[in-house]
Amino acid sequence: MKPVAIIGAGITGLTAAFYLKRRGIPVTVYEASGRVGGVIQSLRQDGWLAEFGPNTLLETSPKIGQLVRDAGLQSRRLDPDPKAEARYVVRYQRPIAMPGSSLGFFTTKLFTAKAKLAVLREPFVPRRRDGVEESIAQFVVRRLNQEFLDQAIDALVAGIYAGDPHRLSLTHAFPKLKALEDNYGSLIKGQIFGARERKRSGEIAKDRAPKFSFDEGLQVLPDTLAARLGDAVKLNTTVTKLTQTAEGWMLTLSEGRVTRAPLSANEVGDSQSSPLRNYEMEHSAVIYCGTAFRLAELKVMCGRAALPRSPEIGAAQQHRPTGDKELEPLDLSPFSEIRYPPVASVVLGFRRENVAHPCECFGMLIPKIEGFKMLGTIFSSSLFPNRAPAGHLTLTSYIGGERHPELALLPVEKLIALTCADLRVLLGATGKPAFQHCVLYPKAIPQYNVGYGRYRGLMMEIESKAPGLFFAGHYRDGVSMGDTIVSGVNIVERVANYYNSRP
Ligand SMILES: Cc1cc2nc3c(=O)[nH]c(=O)nc-3n(C[C@H](O)[C@H](O)[C@H](O)COP(=O)(O)OP(=O)(O)OC[C@H]3O[C@@H](n4cnc5c(N)ncnc54)[C@H](O)[C@@H]3O)c2cc1C
Repeated sequence: MKPVAIIGAGITGLTAAFYLKRRGIPVTVYEASGRVGGVIQSLRQDGWLAEFGPNTLLETSPKIGQLVRDAGLQSRRLDPDPKAEARYVVRYQRPIAMPGSSLGFFTTKLFTAKAKLAVLREPFVPRRRDGVEESIAQFVVRRLNQEFLDQAIDALVAGIYAGDPHRLSLTHAFPKLKALEDNYGSLIKGQIFGARERKRSGEIAKDRAPKFSFDEGLQVLPDTLAARLGDAVKLNTTVTKLTQTAEGWMLTLSEGRVTRAPLSANEVGDSQSSPLRNYEMEHSAVIYCGTAFRLAELKVMCGRAALPRSPEIGAAQQHRPTGDKELEPLDLSPFSEIRYPPVASVVLGFRRENVAHPCECFGMLIPKIEGFKMLGTIFSSSLFPNRAPAGHLTLTSYIGGERHPELALLPVEKLIALTCADLRVLLGATGKPAFQHCVLYPKAIPQYNVGYGRYRGLMMEIESKAPGLFFAGHYRDGVSMGDTIVSGVNIVERVANYYNSRP
């Protein structure tokens, strides 16, 4: 049997490949860039450790901890300092601690008495029954009030999606909130009465899930998985076309030298220079673990008209040979509509005495209404040890997203100046940073906006019409690193069933 092809060596693709290999199924992972990890990027330099992509991995499912153990990384796992669990939200131009308990909520200065009353009223707000898909902003204003949207949800949405709450879909971006209303009629009642259900399923709510990293940053995980996969990972190899065959799928590959921009040059980009060679390889099945915008560029030829659509038709019959004449191109252009706003990660190191704020917590989220340029800052060296040399601290800030996409594209010096200006007001950070690095993600995080169901539906339709082609990753199953690991684990079951059912 020919190997299963995995397109993309981000964390989704590597997780899927790792577990397929453990089941004895041969795999080949094709990665367009010259490195593994996708948006995960950790840089160790002169005693500093900078994370440009994800900073923490949330253990929302037992599958995440299991992957760490299966990869032999338990001893390198770092759990954050428990003191650093608290978060701040900016209000009145200063960071205010988010309440960690009901009592804390009713005494916090973060919300006015009106917002606190809105929480008491929430269990009595009727659920919406007309089936209309709401944005998270509409939902929050309907169930709570405008202040919750402006002061809390806007900041949260910037922290997770770098997104716009007026566009993000409740159903697709915040399915658990929707389920609370659907199942319990209220967010508050759902929090209280849903605990037993969550315990049974093993899932842990994002706000309670343990977060962690590794001694040398999150890059340790993709690097370790890639090392376990060895020669099966082909870097600098872009998949440009998929053609269905009698045996499975023929991949057209473009292998090229990749010139990697230095991290400090305001570019995450691995830009491919002249391809060295184009060639083809046949595979039994394909898992697409790339990005939605690259998916739209992929040419896929499949025997759509010839394939049976009825689910009753057995697997063996579905794999019948597909002659050239029957092949038709699939229209993947709708995936180019999925928005991925740019985000710049600005990692700055300061001498401890140059920052007035204690910074002894996770970080701060900044709502738009406060008028700052940054979306938020993670106090990286308070979370994990060895992120900064003694007597210093590392602050990781984000600029851009749907709120200010144009700012993310500014030159490095301007990005650093904007960040320093905001940090001066918010944390009392002064003096020249002792460490500075910026990375631009020109297309950072997919926006699960209202109407996203169309794209998920399209993926399901293609999977049913083009057997042996599967989709997994951040554009399908959730945007957090944990979601993508679970996506990679779950796709293995489906692909293994398909692979083992072949004659
Ligand atoms: C700035 C930033 C901060 C984040 N912070 C957090 C955080 O703190 N916590 C958290 O949980 N999550 C965070 N995330 C989200 C999380 O990191 C990502 O959702 C996750 O890592 C995506 O993994 P992936 O494998 O699905 O995709 P990617 O990492 O995008 O990998 C896809 C890979 O596919 C390759 N590829 C695409 N097309 C082709 C092709 N045709 N041929 C060959 N290769 C191809 C690409 O080169 C890429 O390497 C953050 C994301 C960003 C951008």
